[in-house]
Amino acid sequence: MATQLNLILLGPPGAGKGTQADRLRDDFALPFISTGDMLRANVKAQTQLGQAAKGYMDAGGLVPDDLIVAMARERLAEADAQDGFILDGFPRTVAQADALQAMLATMGRRITVVLLIDVPDEEVVKRISGRRVCAAHGHNYHVDFDPPKVAGICDQDGSELILRDDDKPEVVANRLVVYHKQTSPLIDYYDQRGVLSRVDGTRGPDDVYGHIRAVLSTLSREDDV
Ligand code: AMP
Repeated sequence: MATQLNLILLGPPGAGKGTQADRLRDDFALPFISTGDMLRANVKAQTQLGQAAKGYMDAGGLVPDDLIVAMARERLAEADAQDGFILDGFPRTVAQADALQAMLATMGRRITVVLLIDVPDEEVVKRISGRRVCAAHGHNYHVDFDPPKVAGICDQDGSELILRDDDKPEVVANRLVVYHKQTSPLIDYYDQRGVLSRVDGTRGPDDVYGHIRAVLSTLSREDDV
């Protein structure tokens, strides 16, 4: 790729952003930055940030912008993020997007592309209710679409597979409300800035990834001109 790839994955919970990010991370030497993963690590380690964030997360609401922006700013300043990144779960509000834009501008950088992975609400609910995550390292599975070899056990480290608190049905319903109200305005935000690409997330993971690779190769060609 001719220029650095500063990529954002946008879409409702359960759209498959994490699955696609895993593949992108394997194919491009880019750090994968998930604010949800960072927050969960903070909750587990019982840091001050984790304690402040937990209540919002358990309810399926958003953690306040100032906490998130400070956390993202620190992460994006690290050495491995200087040649590009894949962001998942950030930004989630217009205020966060504005803060990110400003942060990048001070470094002479910009967002290369925002991939909107689109999936309707009914499909989100179906997907999330089957999602399981390993207690030790957060490896992801799905009881129907991506089952482990042995039910309830992580293939990679043998630890127990659990349903995340915020994947419980009543919490998922709230996460969708929050997504439509607070995060979906980012679709227009990035479309107006000419960096949005839409990907149909209802297809299988291979098809979705094929589409993403096609979008990225178009970008690199444009950059090469
Ligand atoms: P995720 O794994 O991305 O779905 O994030 C899990 C939870 O962490 C969300 O439901 C929010 O409570 C919180 N969270 C993650 N990223 C953000 C963000 N950018 N802004 C506010 N809250 C966030």
